[in-house]
Amino acid sequence: MSSNGNKLELPASIVVRDLAQMIEKSPIDLIKKLMTNGVMATINQTVDFDTAAIVVAEYGFEAVAEIVEEEVKEEVGEVPLWRQLIADEDKSQLKQRPPVVTILGHVDHGKTSLLDAIRSTDVAAGEAGGITQHIGAYQVEMKGRLITFLDTPGHAAFTQMRARGAQGADIVILVVAADDGVMPQTREAIAHAKAARVPIVVALNKVDKPNANPERVKQQLAELELVPDDWGGNTMVVPVSAKQKKGIDDLLEGVLLVADSNEIKANPNGKVVGTVIEAELDKSKGVIATLLVQNGTLASGDVVVAGTAYGKLRAITDHKGKPVKKAGPSTPVAVMGMSDVPSAGDLFQVVDSDKEARAIVAERVEAAKVAAQSKKKVSLEDLFANVQSGEAKDLNLIVKADVQGSLDPIITELNKLGQGEIGVKVLHAETGNIGNNDVMLASASKAIIIGFNVQADIDARRMAEKEGVDIRLYEIIYRMTEDIEKALKGMLAPDLVETNLGRAQVLQVFSASKFGKVAGCKVIEGELKRGAKVRVYRGADIVFEGDLSSLRREKEDVKEVRQGFECGVGFKNFNDILPGDILQCYTVE
Ligand code: GDP
Repeated sequence: MSSNGNKLELPASIVVRDLAQMIEKSPIDLIKKLMTNGVMATINQTVDFDTAAIVVAEYGFEAVAEIVEEEVKEEVGEVPLWRQLIADEDKSQLKQRPPVVTILGHVDHGKTSLLDAIRSTDVAAGEAGGITQHIGAYQVEMKGRLITFLDTPGHAAFTQMRARGAQGADIVILVVAADDGVMPQTREAIAHAKAARVPIVVALNKVDKPNANPERVKQQLAELELVPDDWGGNTMVVPVSAKQKKGIDDLLEGVLLVADSNEIKANPNGKVVGTVIEAELDKSKGVIATLLVQNGTLASGDVVVAGTAYGKLRAITDHKGKPVKKAGPSTPVAVMGMSDVPSAGDLFQVVDSDKEARAIVAERVEAAKVAAQSKKKVSLEDLFANVQSGEAKDLNLIVKADVQGSLDPIITELNKLGQGEIGVKVLHAETGNIGNNDVMLASASKAIIIGFNVQADIDARRMAEKEGVDIRLYEIIYRMTEDIEKALKGMLAPDLVETNLGRAQVLQVFSASKFGKVAGCKVIEGELKRGAKVRVYRGADIVFEGDLSSLRREKEDVKEVRQGFECGVGFKNFNDILPGDILQCYTVE
C-alpha cells in the first residue's frame, strides 16, 4: 500500500483503522464518512476496495488497485469433515468408488421426475419385484458401474449438509427446463455447487416440449460460466426428457465421464466414516437411519456414532430393502440399532466399542451445552425480549440478495414494515452471498442477516454459529416479509387497555402532614381504588395523571370506595388539587 500524489494504492480489502492511517484521518471521521455512504463498519472491520475507493475519493484521493505479486494460493475452502477424518489414509490403498450424485435445480424443472426416470432405468429394481423403499438414496447401474443418487432433491438438503461440513455429493446434476431457462434457484444451485467445488452436469430437461429452447438455455448457462461442451466449454449439457424417459442413459454416461476426470476414490478397508442422509423414529423398529458410507466398509454389528446418537448396528439393508452384511464406499444403507435419531448431515464413524461411543457422545453433549450457554443470539424470536427490556428499538437487518433487481424491492418492502412502533433498519444491503464480513457486521451491530436467493458461505455459517448471529434465507419475498412482520408484531409492546373504574368530585382540600394535600371527595360514579391510576380534570383540562396513593374513609385506610360515599384521596407527587376538580380512576393492563 502506498500513496503517490493523489493516487492511493489500495488492496482488495482493508481494515478501517489502516485506511484511516493511510489517508491520515481519524478513524471516527472515516467511520462517519462510511456511514454517510451507507456502510456501517467498526474500526476493526474491513471494507472492500470499491467502498474504500468511494470514501477516499471524498478526501481527494484516487484509489488504484494495489498490484499484488501473483501468489499461488493453496485452494482452501471446504474440505468436508469426512475427508478430513480420512486425511491420513494410505493413498496407495485408495480405490475407485461409485460417484455420489445429487440433483439440484429450480422448482418444477423436473428434479423429482428425473430421479424417478433414473430409478426406473435400473433393471435390478425391476427384479426385486419393483418394491423399492425410499431411504433417501439409491444406486443404479450403468455399463457395469454403479452410480449413487441422493434422492432428496432440493437445496435445503444440500445446504444443510454443507452447513454441517458434510458433503454427500461428488457431482451435481443441474436440472434446467428447456422451456423455462435459468431461474433464481438455478443460479442458487450453481452457487452451491461452485462453493462446494462439486462439478456440474446439466440435464437440459423437457426437451420434448414444443416451446423448448435449448440454445437459449445454453446461452444463459454460458453467461454463468457454465460453457456447454458443444460450444467448446467444459460443462456437459445433456438434453433429456424425464417425462418420456429420453436421454437418461446419455446423462448417466455423462456423469461417469465427469466422475472419471475427478478422483472419486476411497479405501474400502480404511476407517469407516460417512454421512447421515436421513433418519427417523419408526414406532415398531426404533431408529432407522440412512447412512452413506464414504470410506471403509460398514458391517452389521459395528458400533456407530453419529452426532450424539450411537449404537450397535442390528440390521443393514440396501436401498431395495434387501438385508446386506456389508456396505462399502458410496453405498447408501438403512440401518437399525441407533440409540437416538441423528440429524441429516451428521458425520458418522465406526468406533471400537460401546464404551468409546458413549465417551464421544458425552463429550459432544458437554460441548454443545457450553456452546449453547455462551450464545447470546439476536434472533427474530428473542428480539422481542430486547425491545421490552429497552435494549433494542430497531430491528437491524443486513440484506443480501442474488441480484440488484431483487434487492431494491426487498428494501422497499422492509422499509414499509418498519413504520410501526419498532423500526426496521437496513444497515447494509448488497448483492452476493453472505460472507464473514456480513456476519461480523451483524454481530457487531446486533443485526439479523436476511439472505434472498443467496447462501451463506460455510465460514460465515460457522462464524454466525459462534457469534450467535441469526441468518435467515428466503427464496420468496412474501415469505420473508411475512416472517419479519410476524416478528415485529410479536415484538410490539402489548396494547395498553385502559379500564375506567369510576369518578369522584373534589369537595374540599386538606393538608395532612403525612400525605401532603388530601382531597375530600364524593364518588359520583363507579368506585375509586387504592393503587389504581387517577386523572385529575379541571374543566376540560387534565391537570394530573398518576397514582392514587392513599384512600381513606373516616380515618381508616380502605381499598376501595363506592359510588355515593365520601372519602379522602392522596396522590403521589401531586399537591395542586382544588375543590371542584373531577377525579377519574382507571386501571391499565
Ligand atoms: P421438481 O419440482 O423440479 O421436482 O419438478 P417435477 O419433477 O415435480 O416436475 C414438474 C412438472 O414438470 C411436472 O408436472 C412434470 O410432469 C413435468 N415434467 C418433468 N419433466 C418433464 C419433461 O421432461 N417433459 C415434460 N413435458 N414435462 C416434464
